[in-house]
Amino acid sequence: MRIKFPVLAGSICILVCAGLAQAPAAFTLHDLGSGAWAAIDNPAAKSARSGANAGFIIGSDGVAVIDTFENVAAAQTLLDEIRKKTNLPIRFVVNTHYHLDHVAGNSIFANAGATILAQENVRVWERTENAKFFGPKITTQQKEEVESLGLPSITYKDGVTLYLERRALVVRSLLGHTGGDSVVYDSSANVVFCGDLFWNHTLPNLIDASTKPWIATLDTLLADYPTATFVPGHGNEPGQAADVRDFRGYLIDLRAAIQKAQADGKSGDALVDAVLPQLQQKYGSWNFFAFAKSDIKYTDAELRGTKRIPEPSAQ
Ligand SMILES: [Zn+2]
Repeated sequence: MRIKFPVLAGSICILVCAGLAQAPAAFTLHDLGSGAWAAIDNPAAKSARSGANAGFIIGSDGVAVIDTFENVAAAQTLLDEIRKKTNLPIRFVVNTHYHLDHVAGNSIFANAGATILAQENVRVWERTENAKFFGPKITTQQKEEVESLGLPSITYKDGVTLYLERRALVVRSLLGHTGGDSVVYDSSANVVFCGDLFWNHTLPNLIDASTKPWIATLDTLLADYPTATFVPGHGNEPGQAADVRDFRGYLIDLRAAIQKAQADGKSGDALVDAVLPQLQQKYGSWNFFAFAKSDIKYTDAELRGTKRIPEPSAQ
């Protein structure tokens, strides 16, 4: 997820976009070959952004979509763009995790006939945990919007393989970002759609994160798909293994700097003040550097064993 969700402001965006015919597109499409596409959030679109990255794969008998953006207007634009390329049915949508910026357009694709799939915790958390992103002053309308988000109709625990005719899409559940994340690997295009398990030269939001298993997840991705293109959940372009290693390096550096500060007896603001300049020096040029302070606080809590993360409920 990003900083704040201008969420489900679909109707507002339609008005704004209609009045600004030349407004920058909410996202840009990147051709990854073999019918695989990344839809990358466009910072130039300002308030009419898609809020996260997504993607789709056009097979011989249908289309699979990965994530549905932060608002219904961007999701509708994504559907329109797919329709410019193919009239094949939208067979599947995979939600890589429950955060609003990846699921808010689910209804657009469900109404188009798609089956929505996700790791089982996504269905448990989508209509509850997303409320926290609006803060304590959440309005009744915002609460209703969260509680009416389109849910996955099929869930899995560890993964599932989807088929577009003979083309296999391997969906794997992996730990780190929320405890209910998945990646989608398409061997035909050699692309991994990573959701928010990979942020390309962009600081991650760690509100639900466990950085230790996350580093192990990145090791798995690098070992299993060394030559793949990695589509990030956030970040301005698809990446390669070197970019995933850079992101892994951020999590390692963050943990190491915090562990050192803790060992020096620091806590609270003093710990943030000790760690922040180290991050600034190496990662100050990354997108969303404004997440640095909260990344430090969340990881400090994680390393002390006091961090609150979403609980999977009994299935
Ligand atoms: Zn996100």
